[in-house]
Amino acid sequence: MTAIVLVHHDDYADWVFDSHHPTQGRRFTKAQELLLELAEEAGIEVFELDSDLLPDRAVLESVHDPAYVDQVIAQGRCGEWAGQRPDLARIAHRMVGGTLLAAQALVEGRALTAVHFPGAKHHAMGDRSSGFCVFADFAIAARRLLDDPTSGVERVAILDIDAHHGDGNETLLLDEPRALTFSIHDCTIFPGTGHADSPEQHVYNEPLAAGSGDAELIEGVGRFVQLTSEFAPDMILVAMGADGHDEDPLSTLRYSIVGMEAAVRRVRREFPEVPSLLGGAGGYLPDTVTPEAWARMAVAAARSN
Ligand SMILES: [Zn+2]
Repeated sequence: MTAIVLVHHDDYADWVFDSHHPTQGRRFTKAQELLLELAEEAGIEVFELDSDLLPDRAVLESVHDPAYVDQVIAQGRCGEWAGQRPDLARIAHRMVGGTLLAAQALVEGRALTAVHFPGAKHHAMGDRSSGFCVFADFAIAARRLLDDPTSGVERVAILDIDAHHGDGNETLLLDEPRALTFSIHDCTIFPGTGHADSPEQHVYNEPLAAGSGDAELIEGVGRFVQLTSEFAPDMILVAMGADGHDEDPLSTLRYSIVGMEAAVRRVRREFPEVPSLLGGAGGYLPDTVTPEAWARMAVAAARSN
């Protein structure tokens, strides 16, 4: 039976920098509820895991500078919010744990698809937060998997279809030959990078012109599939940002939910046996498009038909 591991925590609803900020934690809860409904309709079994892991500082420091980790964890300070917010720092910490739990569930073979909607904070850098991202959970998970000989994961590929360039993951894994990063993004918006490939470092980018849509997304995923087939990853991490949707206010892209579903389905078809971890990354229509796109992509990733 097709199955999905879903990692969630009630505290994620409180991921609110302020009431007007684009990032609103209720999108995670709505996506979770919708995924449970859609999975039931589709006959997919869902294993729900509580995101109760707060990883050791050494885990965070596998990609982040100790001084930055200290600033966030000990002082509750971060460039994404004003003043001291230990509540948000704790959730940011928990979000790393959630992605690690999802990865571990895949290693244990509980399912071929694991979903952690608050995951894929793809802009965080070694010494600072960026673009609403505090800790680089995907880069941390990739390092953990690759450095753990018992994981069975010797190569990791990251596909990033969020509307923004996955600059953090790219930078943090640049010197890791066992990790491939591939980002498809709107080249006219933040962070303004990701215009070229660096094949010797397994870095690939698909910068799209303003207003690009499903056809360009699918074409980009086709190139990812081709490159990644040669790379032969043991696990694929997908930053399934929903902010490339036509209605999303933070990009010019014009993807449809059907197009985004087709993108992740293509990956599952090409790699039917490769465990895949999906993180939500961005998406700024918290009551409508974002949770629906995320939940539908999660179902599409779990099924190849
Ligand atoms: Zn984004």
